[in-house]
Amino acid sequence: MKEEFILNEDFYQKLKELLRENQIMIEEPLAKHTTFLIGGPADYLVLPDSISQVSSLVKLCNKENMPFYILGKGSNLLVSDNGYRGLIIKIGQEFSQISVEESDTTIAGKYLVKAQAGIMLSKMANEIAEHSLEGFEFASGIPGTLGGAVTMNAGAYGGEMKDSIVCVVVADSAGNILELNKEELKLGYRRSIIQDNHYIVLEAAFAFPKGKKEEIRNKMNDLNARRKEKQPLEYPSAGSTFKRPEGYFAGKLIMDAGLSGFKVGNAQVSEKHCGFVINIGGASASEVRALINEVITIVNHKFGVMLEPEVKLLGEF
Ligand SMILES: Cc1cc2nc3c(=O)[nH]c(=O)nc-3n(C[C@H](O)[C@H](O)[C@H](O)COP(=O)(O)OP(=O)(O)OC[C@H]3O[C@@H](n4cnc5c(N)ncnc54)[C@H](O)[C@@H]3O)c2cc1C
Repeated sequence: MKEEFILNEDFYQKLKELLRENQIMIEEPLAKHTTFLIGGPADYLVLPDSISQVSSLVKLCNKENMPFYILGKGSNLLVSDNGYRGLIIKIGQEFSQISVEESDTTIAGKYLVKAQAGIMLSKMANEIAEHSLEGFEFASGIPGTLGGAVTMNAGAYGGEMKDSIVCVVVADSAGNILELNKEELKLGYRRSIIQDNHYIVLEAAFAFPKGKKEEIRNKMNDLNARRKEKQPLEYPSAGSTFKRPEGYFAGKLIMDAGLSGFKVGNAQVSEKHCGFVINIGGASASEVRALINEVITIVNHKFGVMLEPEVKLLGEF
C-alpha cells in the first residue's frame, strides 16, 4: 500500500523560490505523462524552462536528499501503480527550440542542427526535412523527445541517433553543465553514458547533408505508413517492450511461443505485433509487469533465450 502523501512544506517553498507556481505540480498522476497511460502519482513534478533551472533543481535535490527522475514524453516508461516518491523533472515542450545552420560553415559538407532536449522527434524531423536535410527520417515516427532518444540511442529502420549526433549539453548529477562529444557519449544499442552516469540531456547538435525535400518527405511518409501497418498504434503502449536479443527478434520468439494475444488483466501481448505489450483499457502497471515476467519465463523455457525489457521501470514493483 502507498503511504499517504504528506507535503514537505520546506521543500515546496524552496521549489517556489526556483520556479513559478504553474511549473510545479503536487501528487501529479504519471498516467497523464506516459504513452502507456499507466502510473500512480509523483509527489512533485516540475516543468523547468531553462538550463539554469534544471541545474538549480538538481542542486536543491542533492542538498535536500530528495530523489529525482528525468521524464521526457514517457514513451519508454512503465511507472508503478504507486507512482514515484520524489521529484520528477519533466524536460518537455518548455525545451523545444530548434535552429538550423543555414550558412556555408558546414562540417564536412553537413549542416548543423541544434535542438533542445524536450522537442518531439516528429517536430524535429519535420523541421529538418523543411530545410532539405536528410538522415533523420527514421526518427519521425518515434513518439518521444530528443532527450529520451539521445539517452536511449533510439533507432528505427536502420537509423539511430548515433549516426548524426555531434555533441550534447548535459547536466551532471551535481548540477554542473558539461558538453560531451559523440565519442564521449558511448552510444550503443539502446544505451549511452547518459544512462550510466545519470546525466540530464539539455541540448544536442546533429549534422546532416543536403538532400531533396520531396525524397525526404516521401521516405518519412513511407516509414510512418509501415509503422501504422505493423505496429498497434491504436493502443497505448511504450513501443517495443523487449530489447532485440542477439541473433533473434523478440516479437517472433514471443509469437512462436504461442503468446500472441496473451493477457494478464488488461495488459496484452499485441496480436498485431507480439513485441509490443499494449494497454487494452485500464491496465495497471502490476498487470503489465506480470505479463512481461510471464513472457520472459515462457520464452526462456521454450527457446532458452532470456528476453530483457527495453521499457524502463520507475517506482516500486
Ligand atoms: C508506439 C511507439 C513506438 C516506438 N518506436 C520506437 C522506435 O522505433 N525506436 C526506438 O528506439 N524507440 C521507440 N519507442 C520508444 C520511445 O519512443 C523512445 O525510446 C524515445 O526515445 C523515448 O523518449 P521519451 O522522451 O518518451 O523518454 P521517456 O520515456 O520519458 O524516458 C526514457 C528514458 O530516458 C530518460 N530521459 C528522458 N529524457 C531525458 C533527458 N532529457 N535527459 C536524460 N534522460 C532522459 C528517462 O529518465 C528514462 O530513463 C516507441 C514507443 C512507442 C510508444
